[in-house]
Amino acid sequence: MKILKADYILTCNENFEIIEDGAICFDDKIIEIGKAKDIEAKYQNIDITTVGKNSVIMPGLINPHVHLEFSANRTSLRYGDFMPWLNSVIKNRDKLLQTNEHNYMENELEKIVKSGTTTLGEISSFGGDYEACIKTPIKVVYFNEVLGSRPDTVDMLFNDFKSRLDTSKNGHNKTFIPAISIHSAYSTHPILVKKVLDIARKENFLVSTHFMESQAERDWLDYGNGDFLEFFNAFSPDTKPLSSAKEYLELFYGTHTLFTHCTKASKDEIEKIKELGGFITHCPTSNRLLNSGRLGIENIDKSMLNLGTDGLSSNISLNLWDEMRGALMMHFLGNLDVLSKQLIKMSTINGANALGLNNGILKVDKDADIIAVNLPDILNSADELATQMILHTKKADKIYINGEQIV
Ligand SMILES: [Zn+2]
Repeated sequence: MKILKADYILTCNENFEIIEDGAICFDDKIIEIGKAKDIEAKYQNIDITTVGKNSVIMPGLINPHVHLEFSANRTSLRYGDFMPWLNSVIKNRDKLLQTNEHNYMENELEKIVKSGTTTLGEISSFGGDYEACIKTPIKVVYFNEVLGSRPDTVDMLFNDFKSRLDTSKNGHNKTFIPAISIHSAYSTHPILVKKVLDIARKENFLVSTHFMESQAERDWLDYGNGDFLEFFNAFSPDTKPLSSAKEYLELFYGTHTLFTHCTKASKDEIEKIKELGGFITHCPTSNRLLNSGRLGIENIDKSMLNLGTDGLSSNISLNLWDEMRGALMMHFLGNLDVLSKQLIKMSTINGANALGLNNGILKVDKDADIIAVNLPDILNSADELATQMILHTKKADKIYINGEQIV
């Protein structure tokens, strides 16, 4: 059993409760949280670690949407609009995917854990990230992705997906959870979507999908025109959209799904996602770099929203603190401290709920996925804690996953 003591315990519970001069006692699960003096009196024969001046203990961060396979990208991809970016991904894909010889993914995972992220949702397109995700101490929900729109390739693509899914099922353990990803409505044939979602329902796999990320996607699914018309016609003439946005969403009944981006989703589509019991992953930096527009988070049920970085294919950092800083600047109309609290909840408890995990909150019987952070100076008041943490934090000073310290 371990006990940590800090100036502030940020629980990330419903009321965003902060315990000043608090302590937390844990094994692999959290045993007790409270005022340091009460915990010290109760557990007199156990060593207590003080985490230093201006210290904060909080749940480890949760990033539900990342593409580690693109970790080699720095300056190869074209930003500013979705279509030029997509074309640059296709052009540079083979080069970017040859990452193993340079350990790009392992290096990013090390940076991610040092930043204080203890859980990831990894979107795996090709399976090249499997070894790195199995080895990392970070909890990984591993979304095996399926993608492909040509009807004559459905069987081949399904078999390839199945074999990757089976491999990841063999790796299932306390820190590696297999799951399913469907790339998007415009890129994945509905027959393939149905076959894969049947498996998700039968075997209880989480699902992730990109949804309404660009104006091109909106124009294509609604009218069969826009930037995607030229893009698809280059592969085969007279291509039509595979389904409408509404038909696509209907396929997800009875699943537990994370819908990523949604910047171009209509009010009705957001309502439909809510009705499906779905979650929305917000990736503000990626949205800005691809000119996808701003997600109107103020109009969405807060409990549905979580925060992701997307991959280095559309970001410069997989550190969620950087993402929170970006989100704080992007959503500039609301109250600063209220938004900061929302962003920290999106990066902890909301991510845990979206990924169906028993962490993301400091509460008795939850997994002891805990980080400690030291602020550079004292605070005016605990009410500013969330804002000052987002402004000043780049890394965690102590990290525990299932109660085990990561060094
Ligand atoms: Zn993505």
